Amino acid sequence: MKSSKKIILTGDRPTGRLHLGHFVGSLRNRLELQNKKDYDEMYVMIADAQALTDNADNPEKIRENIIEVALDYLSIGLDPEKITIFIQSQVPALTELTFYYSNLVTVSRLQRNPTVKNEIKLRNFEANIPVGFFNYPISQAADITAFQANIVPVGEDQLPMIEQAREIVRSFNRIYKDVLIEPKAILPTNKNALRLPGIDGNAKMSKSLGNGIYLADTKEEVKRKVMSMYTDPNHVHVEDPGNVENNPVFTYLEVFASDKDFRKYLPQYQNLEELKIHYQKGGLGDVTIKKFLLQIIENILEPIRLRRAMYEQQIENVYDILKIGSKKANIRANETLRLVKEAMAINYFEDEDLIQKHIKKYNQKEKDSNE
Ligand code: ATP
Ligand code: MG
Repeated sequence: MKSSKKIILTGDRPTGRLHLGHFVGSLRNRLELQNKKDYDEMYVMIADAQALTDNADNPEKIRENIIEVALDYLSIGLDPEKITIFIQSQVPALTELTFYYSNLVTVSRLQRNPTVKNEIKLRNFEANIPVGFFNYPISQAADITAFQANIVPVGEDQLPMIEQAREIVRSFNRIYKDVLIEPKAILPTNKNALRLPGIDGNAKMSKSLGNGIYLADTKEEVKRKVMSMYTDPNHVHVEDPGNVENNPVFTYLEVFASDKDFRKYLPQYQNLEELKIHYQKGGLGDVTIKKFLLQIIENILEPIRLRRAMYEQQIENVYDILKIGSKKANIRANETLRLVKEAMAINYFEDEDLIQKHIKKYNQKEKDSNE
């Protein structure tokens, strides 16, 4: 189905606090859409049910992190007056949609999903994949379509999920009735933000890998992390030529540093290009570039930290925000579920024609037997 509205859905798994990878990969895009008022409806979901698919034995971890993710959202400036923040498990229609959509997807199609493949490896699930985890791309399709979202701001690792959701929508609309909307991903425009590396040089900053700078880290923690970041292991002495490729300090500078930052903190260089050339030539120490990066990251994190401290003093209020958001999300998702069930013709009690048809059928039978 086509929609003239701009409806946005995104979410995060409450498996830990949010970090700079989330910030540049997805949060920043949401914030920009919110602040530009460039949307009709926006839903931000704390994906606890999805997080349970690979944390079945540790529900406490998920339970503890819902509030952390909510605090992170509020601290970056997501505004519950403008958008709907809700908890996935509190919207039962999502589970029901997942169940019906799973009839439209084959096991081999799920097995081909590169992100899921990678995550299975990462979690050592090879021999024992929980069915729920294996199915999570289907549940993600339910989350997106339940809100008739056409825009999903995500990091690059989520592209196969969006593709899967689009396929489900096409199948559903073809087989039953044209009621669902095909979503589109929005990726960060800065290519280094597609998948921000970890401070250890790993290709992805991830909660599960413990290699992140968290939005809620203290000033001291951020300093310790930045100053101990992985760089070029062959750049031992200041005068050694250094490599800027696969060097996360430079990747972060690509994402965060502006020419204005150079004028303010490193005026001997016009821009990142000049800094890179010096590093590659030799004569530029890691401490200098790390201190520069630290300053820039602190400028981003400091206001977030202050706002977080304020919300940390209003926990009851934050839970109320989630409760009200979940209520709103239920209204929207139930409406889609109603359309889906109608399209699948499993809305028996609303279908007066069906009841009349069956009354007629058995009246006829009665008549026939009396003749
Ligand atoms: P987990 O390890 O539990 O899967 P995660 O760190 O991958 O956690 P998610 O909650 O799965 O975080 O991802 C939330 C959103 O953040 C997704 O849109 C994802 O693409 C994006 N994202 C996560 N890590 C990064 C990163 N390092 N760079 C860019 N985007 C990221
Ligand atoms: Mg993930």
